[in-house]
Amino acid sequence: MALIVQKFGGTSVGSVERIEQVAAKVKTFRDNGDDIVVVVSAMSGETNRLIDLARQISERPVSRELDVMVSTGEQVTIALLAMALIKIGVPAVSYTGSQVRILTDGSHTKARILQIDAQNIRKELKAGRVVVVAGFQGVDEAGNITTLGRGGSDTTGVALAAALKADECQIYTDVDGVYTTDPRVVAKAQRLEKITFEEMLEMASLGSKVLQIRAVEFAGKYGVPLRVLHSFKEGPGTLITLDEEDSMEQPIISGIAFNRDEAKLTIRGVPDTPGVAFKILGPISAANVEVDMIVQNVAHDNTTDFTFTVHRNDYQNALHVLEHIAQEMGAREVVGDVDIAKVSIVGVGMRSHAGVASRMFEALAKENINIQMISTSEIKVSVVIEEKYLELAVRALHTAFDLDAPAGKGE
Ligand code: ASP
Ligand code: MG
Repeated sequence: MALIVQKFGGTSVGSVERIEQVAAKVKTFRDNGDDIVVVVSAMSGETNRLIDLARQISERPVSRELDVMVSTGEQVTIALLAMALIKIGVPAVSYTGSQVRILTDGSHTKARILQIDAQNIRKELKAGRVVVVAGFQGVDEAGNITTLGRGGSDTTGVALAAALKADECQIYTDVDGVYTTDPRVVAKAQRLEKITFEEMLEMASLGSKVLQIRAVEFAGKYGVPLRVLHSFKEGPGTLITLDEEDSMEQPIISGIAFNRDEAKLTIRGVPDTPGVAFKILGPISAANVEVDMIVQNVAHDNTTDFTFTVHRNDYQNALHVLEHIAQEMGAREVVGDVDIAKVSIVGVGMRSHAGVASRMFEALAKENINIQMISTSEIKVSVVIEEKYLELAVRALHTAFDLDAPAGKGE
């Protein structure tokens, strides 16, 4: 008998029929003798609808009131799911975040969980009930309702699993696991049986949208075994763990991530003196623009070129700041490029294998794809390329690192 926390997202509870399907699924685990805590999101589209309503009153609604309102989405789902469970003979009870006492700080719309009182839930489980908890919400010290930021129900699920020392936290969603890359780009992408938290964090921050990044961080920190599964299709999903021991046996690369969210800026002919990087990036960060990749060229004629990438949304802002800096520093020119993409290979296997980066560069060279920037970490190599080659690059790398599904196994 295990204690399992199961989280169902918005599409999985998007209609009354689906909520009844979820109830039937929960019942099969109950019938197995497991203790179940279910965390649910609002019905799909509901949170957006509520935010829209608020915007009709005010462009910038007071965040305390916004939280009072958007938290109702999840409150509806917990009640419906509890009713659906009871209807099929499964004793169940719903709890809002504040009823559990998911204590958060007071930063409305992006609150952080400080502490969870697991007592109420334990009591209910002991009495034989399934406990249905509203995701995404908590309560601050003063009793105000708070919410955890968009997609926050994943975090609620993981935090509850940690607080209850659950055997597993299962995240049910509309994909059947974490894939080697986006199956819409590479038809031969495969579901991973297992991936480490570290790899999952890289994949998530590099653009894979299966899980909220904060939830993965939380699970890694507390060692909560996390499993991503399809809500309505049978299958083992993907297990996300700390375990790295058999990484020698594992493929060197677990996945290929990519995104089109970045833009590149270059300032040319900057006098090559100490403090140049700071002079350029200081004002950029003061303008609240986050920088991702950075390259400074070797100086030539006492000047250097300096290139970095920012989120595409920040491009105009960064360009403006940079033009100003260029003038002040007497740099030659500023050029920008939004038609770029970042492709990354991710895998803890890199730690024990040499030559991974060169294998990546070789694969790209074979396709005649020019690499504009490179950055590496212990478990990742990222390159910036021209956006129009993105899909070709991802496919080439997927093949080069032996990630393609064997013939007949692709879906
Ligand atoms: N309902 C919230 C949202 O749409 C939280 C969640 O779904 O995880 O962002
Ligand atoms: Mg969600």
